[in-house]
Amino acid sequence: MRTALISDIHSNLPALEKVLADIDRRGVDRIVCLGDIVGYGPDPIECVDLVAARCEWSLMGNHDFGVLYEPTNFNSAAEQAAYWSRARLEEGARLDPEKGRRRLDYLNRLRVRVLLDERFLCVHGTPRRPINEYLFPDDATNSPSKMEQIFDRFDVACLVGHTHVPGVFIDDPDFLRPAEFDGTYRLEEGHKVIVNPGSVGQPRDLDPRASYAILESGDAGAAVEFVRCEYDVRTTVEKIHAIPELHDWLGDRLYEGR
Ligand code: ZN
Repeated sequence: MRTALISDIHSNLPALEKVLADIDRRGVDRIVCLGDIVGYGPDPIECVDLVAARCEWSLMGNHDFGVLYEPTNFNSAAEQAAYWSRARLEEGARLDPEKGRRRLDYLNRLRVRVLLDERFLCVHGTPRRPINEYLFPDDATNSPSKMEQIFDRFDVACLVGHTHVPGVFIDDPDFLRPAEFDGTYRLEEGHKVIVNPGSVGQPRDLDPRASYAILESGDAGAAVEFVRCEYDVRTTVEKIHAIPELHDWLGDRLYEGR
């Protein structure tokens, strides 16, 4: 079974379209999304519709939650983007009530956790605070008790998003970037891992290319291949710059991948 893992799209339609085209070329059985379809970027409506059409399911991310309810612990640019995204979705519901309501309903029904194939625990943040706890690469060395508590919360492997940094946490503990294992990480029985596929729409590992992963799983074991995908960053940046409610920085950072 080949499962494409996408996450943190953040209303970046050119990035999402490129990633989906790349996934189609590689042939997968299903696509799942680990949350944050919206927030930050210029195309919330189009991204929700595309995820709803192409993904088997998506999780509730902190930005999806913030757009639906109240943004909490957001910086002012993120908060303003959340209110703007909500206004866009509400406008969409006014212009086309049936489609618009179905779209909002889709967001409202996003789940907080999914146990995929009874083996892979999927959450946006961490297993102990599924919507909004960050598990940063530095935590592997700086926060041993946090790592221990989080690894205690699942059995085989955990799939997360939220930090926008692709890689694998192992129970040593350590964080391994894809370059450290040539892009494909093989899961070994008895060794728990936490996998983050990185972000489609706002990478933060100083590589501006969209990031996602393909999980290959079967009786013989499982492996995760990390993939990067060039897209037209400038189009997204220019759209962000043209929307007064979206801070210019939300566009500028995409050029640098941070
Ligand atoms: Zn995010």
